[in-house]
Amino acid sequence: MKYYLTTPIYYVNSAPHLGTAYTTFVADAIKRFKKMQGYDPVAITTGSDEHGQNVERAAKSSNISPEEYATRVADEFVNQWAKLGIDYDYFIRTSDPKHFETVHDLFDRCQRNGYIYKGSYTGQYCFHDELYVNDAKPGDPCPDCGRPTETVTEENYFFKLSAFQERLLELYENDPKFVQPDYRRNELIQFVKGGLNDLSITRTSIKWGIPVPVEGNHVFYVWFDALTSYMSAVKGTSFWPADLHLIGKDILRFHAIYWPAFLMAAGLPLPKQVVAHGWILVEESKMSKSRGNIIRPSPVADAVGVDALRYFLMREITFGQDGSFSYDALIQRYNADLANGLGNLASRTLTMISQYRGGVVPTSDGASDVAAVAQTVVQSALESFDRFDFSRALELIWSLISAIDKFIVERAPWKLVKDPGSERLLDETLYTAAEALRIACAWLYPVMPGATAKIWAQLGMKQPIESMRVSDLHWGKLAGGQPIGRIEAVFPRIDAKVAIEKMKEGEIQEKARQDILMGKKPVAEEAKPASATINIDEFGKVDLRVGLVLSAERVKGSDKLLHLKVDIGEPAPRTIVAGIAEAYEPEKMLGRKVVIVANLAPRKLRGLESQGMIVAASLEGGKPVLAGFLEEVPVGARLK
Ligand SMILES: [Zn+2]
Repeated sequence: MKYYLTTPIYYVNSAPHLGTAYTTFVADAIKRFKKMQGYDPVAITTGSDEHGQNVERAAKSSNISPEEYATRVADEFVNQWAKLGIDYDYFIRTSDPKHFETVHDLFDRCQRNGYIYKGSYTGQYCFHDELYVNDAKPGDPCPDCGRPTETVTEENYFFKLSAFQERLLELYENDPKFVQPDYRRNELIQFVKGGLNDLSITRTSIKWGIPVPVEGNHVFYVWFDALTSYMSAVKGTSFWPADLHLIGKDILRFHAIYWPAFLMAAGLPLPKQVVAHGWILVEESKMSKSRGNIIRPSPVADAVGVDALRYFLMREITFGQDGSFSYDALIQRYNADLANGLGNLASRTLTMISQYRGGVVPTSDGASDVAAVAQTVVQSALESFDRFDFSRALELIWSLISAIDKFIVERAPWKLVKDPGSERLLDETLYTAAEALRIACAWLYPVMPGATAKIWAQLGMKQPIESMRVSDLHWGKLAGGQPIGRIEAVFPRIDAKVAIEKMKEGEIQEKARQDILMGKKPVAEEAKPASATINIDEFGKVDLRVGLVLSAERVKGSDKLLHLKVDIGEPAPRTIVAGIAEAYEPEKMLGRKVVIVANLAPRKLRGLESQGMIVAASLEGGKPVLAGFLEEVPVGARLK
């Protein structure tokens, strides 16, 4: 029986980070687990979501085409997944012609069945940035530049989502596994019961997208394009419908409402399950560009190994909920669970077999009490993996590791070896340890494929670990008389201080590399050392005020200067001459709040007396960018 699962296709507006790596690691672990369960073939689709205004803009600021930009970032994902050992099968790019065909086909089917109509979309738009600002109210500022957004109306194609409320609710009721976990399913049901609005699925103001077949000036907008990639990736195979869409909780509605509705409208089979996981929190908050707390996976993998990172994320985060990442916690778990736990069990077991039995696994049935523990643990771990409860599965496997550690201490094989009457007891002890190690490794393989394969080889196993099936994992399958391999430490202890230093240093370098890749121009002023320090009293001499621009016009005979009247809460507005005309149209300045140095000595520019200075970031080779406020602030307020 086939099993087909997907990660989200990642938006090329950001480079890979720990969050996208987490979803992809989980997909990889599920694939390996499904193979153990006997599913065949098992395939993963991942990929890149490449269209839309953000990509258009990012490409423009890097002076390259959107195609080039998207290719550059898509390649970065491919390279990162290769470095992190992800065993995916399909990497779909939404710029792939085969994907265009699938989107067109889906649209045709929906249209033929009467679920597409023409209407007009009204929303807030920033003309400066050519950006739709979702959920903004008229007059709200643009989140990028702070200018007021404007209400626009354009003709769009709409999808009749409202027609699917009842059918979607039936789907969630009849098939509770369709959306998991349950608490997210319940939230979703409440949301859908509140009613569904029809969905605008095209735009005319965006160029970089998939053209609508009947009208070339329309392109598909976000979800009709992106979600369909799960089908495009496996076009021409029998993998569709997907058995599992693995996603972050922030995109659940799109996957559990829009996507099944599109497919119902088209008369196509629905995916079997959508499972939403939580966020990785760093210092208690979600990783985000604006908070600057993004962690990238490669430097962590370089310091502790990919397997330890995978183990940490799946052990520490209860799948479905938010979980925290920190370098300290990672190293603590590494040393406690991997170096002292699994790694130590492997090296002491193998070393004893080498020293006491000439490197050959003795023949025995093993100790029945440990065998019983192993059988119980294996059964519960199987059930936990099946629920994607990785944390619980790992906890159970570690209870087996603790049980065998305790057993070795109690049996004290280093004493048995000195007693000629204890030959059989020593054989039984060593066999029990080795068999428990084999079983633990096989069950840890989906989470730590690299490290477990190494221990597997050291145990002298002939069949590769990836070919193990659940039915091979019963107690007693380890063959006595099997020679073990060369012993090597798999998880050497880590010095926390050294490793954390290395990860932090690596993170800085990785961020710089990705910033260049993403076309972020370094700010010239930032690179220079800060100026000599001043004390608070000296700073207090500078009177910075919030000003409101009342009028603006170009200064005759100058390309650079604007003549502004600015209200800073005084009886009369100030006249200010500012060198910003190349960056800002006079009409765009009207009604804008700016920061003014109010006590700068007046100076004459082109015959006009400037009574203060406007504050802007100055970029080498770039245009000035005015300082502003995202929140409401009264005119005349002093900045301190
Ligand atoms: Zn803007």
